[in-house]
Amino acid sequence: MNYLLPFLAVVIGSLAAFLFKEVSNLRMKLLLAFSGAFLLSAVAVEFLPEIYESGNATYGIYLIAGVFIQIILEFFSKGAEHGHMHVRKDVASFPYALFVSLCIHAFLEGMPLQDASGMTYGVAIHKIPIAFIFTGFLIANKASMSKILLVIGIFAVMSPLGSLIAQNANFNVDIMLPIKALVAGIVLHVSTTLILESSDGHQFNLAKMLVMLAGAGLAFMI
Ligand SMILES: [Zn+2]
Ligand SMILES: [Zn+2]
Repeated sequence: MNYLLPFLAVVIGSLAAFLFKEVSNLRMKLLLAFSGAFLLSAVAVEFLPEIYESGNATYGIYLIAGVFIQIILEFFSKGAEHGHMHVRKDVASFPYALFVSLCIHAFLEGMPLQDASGMTYGVAIHKIPIAFIFTGFLIANKASMSKILLVIGIFAVMSPLGSLIAQNANFNVDIMLPIKALVAGIVLHVSTTLILESSDGHQFNLAKMLVMLAGAGLAFMI
């Protein structure tokens, strides 16, 4: 499950980009808000208790390090992890820095997914808009079909690869919990950004509030 879901999510997001050239801004924002609330809630109920249950407060440092790692990754990804790209669509060259940054993000967050069902769903759901936007960007740049398949294929296997390596390395708790804390920091930053950037000027938005409640509630139940 933890290998298949994140992979399938990329396939779904990428296919959607071929099927619907343009998704309405509102729908995209609701999907982003939903995935942000889901991820935030999954971190809160799955990762944070486990990290702090250990009684080792130094793991907090890894969590903060995760936040900073994500900030640095976003210099290169231009925000593609939280569902949009602040890059010009007409640049012809392939955005290598953006792609590598997305892959590092996906690889890292795949590592602690072995026994985490809520986080696996959360990570998978938030890959849908990433794959959608990135594929849309490649289509807009008239990338060849084989190039799109190669690029999206590499991105799709990144999280499962992280899971696989972490599982085979058989990390003990002393290594796994810091990794979890690091990924918790990464995901905290992404999820709060997802929620923040999907709102317009702090206006109350009932639809957004409802999808966020649904996202948070689902993560609690899974
Ligand atoms: Zn942004
Ligand atoms: Zn992510």
